[in-house]
Amino acid sequence: MAKKPTVIKFQGQMEIPFEEFAAEANVAPITKLAARRGAPADNPATRVINYISFGSGSSGNCSYVGTRYGGILIDAGVKADDVMLQLKANGVRMENVKGILLTHDHGDHIKYAYTLLRANKHMRLFCTLRVLNGLLRRHGVSKRIKDYHVPIFKETPFRIAEMEITAFDVPHDGTDNMGFSISYDNRNFVIATDLGAVTERARYYMSRANYLVIEANYDLQMLLFGPYPEYLKSRIRTDHGHLDNTDTAAFLKEIYTENLKYVFLCHLSKDNNTPAKALKAVRTALEERGVRIGDGEETILDRESDLQLVALPRFEPTRWYVFRP
Ligand SMILES: [Zn+2]
Ligand SMILES: [Zn+2]
Repeated sequence: MAKKPTVIKFQGQMEIPFEEFAAEANVAPITKLAARRGAPADNPATRVINYISFGSGSSGNCSYVGTRYGGILIDAGVKADDVMLQLKANGVRMENVKGILLTHDHGDHIKYAYTLLRANKHMRLFCTLRVLNGLLRRHGVSKRIKDYHVPIFKETPFRIAEMEITAFDVPHDGTDNMGFSISYDNRNFVIATDLGAVTERARYYMSRANYLVIEANYDLQMLLFGPYPEYLKSRIRTDHGHLDNTDTAAFLKEIYTENLKYVFLCHLSKDNNTPAKALKAVRTALEERGVRIGDGEETILDRESDLQLVALPRFEPTRWYVFRP
């Protein structure tokens, strides 16, 4: 029997008082007791998981995942003003954003972390000590960023806004690299960006996802015949580089179960991939398993599909996704 991991509850990560949420979301309050325990209400509308990506790819990565108790940013590579504007436009108040989770210390994931933290002093920076040290070694990152740091550890779940979050190791060439599995209401949102291969632990978490953000970085032919210098081409292709469309497609075909409802392809290369190529590779592979694929736009056709497949745009925010039980 596997040992049940400890759940760490961070001090000072206050839950939003339920009444406040109820007024805001215009939902009928459940009992205070249930709200305090984080027990999901019977009303599915109060058990949603929200997701939005503000940008994805080597020019900058940042997304938000949240529940009615608040939420968290994953990576901070998109301009702070744009992120805050988009959150506001979708009804998220910054005081309900508890902090930033970092997948690794590459510039396209951390560039605006300090700006975001300085503008929102209640927020915390959740990352491993090695990622923090990677950040502190970088020019242009304020040393004061460490004042916001809360250390996390791979494979040790912790709780933010009633979401149970577990970081898992992925192979890539940052100082330390990880994906996150975020559980709420018995559903799992999993993100694995910037990984050169799918290792056993990454596979474990991703195969339990209901909503999965996974990298489809390059099309092999485009990379091979593209403009990159040879050393960079081989760096990208190693197990510590990035996943290509066919790797991702084959992996998804292998792990697919009917519990998987959404797949977001992320970190598409500008020079070595196109959304059409990435979508086609994954769609073809999943259709071979008999999976009916939708576009995630909530059309009637989408509702009849088994799985929604979306390629995350590089610069524009996505729509505000609401995952219902
Ligand atoms: Zn990246
Ligand atoms: Zn990276």
